[in-house]
Amino acid sequence: MNGRRERLYRTEAIVLRRRDQGEADRVLTVFTPGMGKQQLLAKGVRKITSRKAGHVELFTHSQFLVAKARTWGIVTQAETIHAFRPLREDLLRTSYAYYAAELVDRFTQEGDENRQLFELLLATLGWLGEARDLRLLARFFELRLLALVGYRPQLFQCVRCQADIEPVDNFWSPAAGGVLCPRCGEGLVEQSGNDRPSAEPLPLNALKVLRFLQTRDWETCSRLRLSPGLHFQLETLLQRYIVYQLERSLKSVGFLRTVRRLLSSSGQ
Ligand SMILES: [Zn+2]
Repeated sequence: MNGRRERLYRTEAIVLRRRDQGEADRVLTVFTPGMGKQQLLAKGVRKITSRKAGHVELFTHSQFLVAKARTWGIVTQAETIHAFRPLREDLLRTSYAYYAAELVDRFTQEGDENRQLFELLLATLGWLGEARDLRLLARFFELRLLALVGYRPQLFQCVRCQADIEPVDNFWSPAAGGVLCPRCGEGLVEQSGNDRPSAEPLPLNALKVLRFLQTRDWETCSRLRLSPGLHFQLETLLQRYIVYQLERSLKSVGFLRTVRRLLSSSGQ
């Protein structure tokens, strides 16, 4: 079935997604540093006796030996490099890992190499196991990912008239690709209802945090302390931006909200 001219290659990869195939197999969607997103067939991993199973779990960073085949590459060996245990022991952290993996999956095409995105995802899965403020980390990840896949929101010049954005309340427009100055933004808000890109108010504090997250490393950003209200604003602004760019909503966002609701109603 593998064909006579089977060839092997070795790659590290992070498992983004998986689905059952046949009786005991799984098709893995993985993200690799050198070959971007790939689909791999992991045979027999749903059998209790499988020695590969633990190494092809979701979010696991593993070393794979893959046999090239006509459709999917076939995993012939897998060995865990990072299991990211801390994020598996906490449902909320796991939900954020689903979200990060789904974003990478949705914003990439199969085979497009993006080494920096691989590094970002790898680092983020580690941070998700220990971060104090998971929402802040999610916003950091979103902004970095958007930049690496070509959708970096413009936060320093007005996306319409190119004027430098002043430290006042401005406007946010996912359709225009970032921040609008008060003059350009007011006009768009008034024109809502037709097919022009719409805009919404962007309070100065929200802009400041977005800029901070876009330009500083995670160690620096992780020291920020945000009010729940500001967190909510940032989440909403970026969610609209992402959904606009993807032209559809993300499954894991609903899941994440449900988990948060369950945890808050149980007093956690
Ligand atoms: Zn403007």
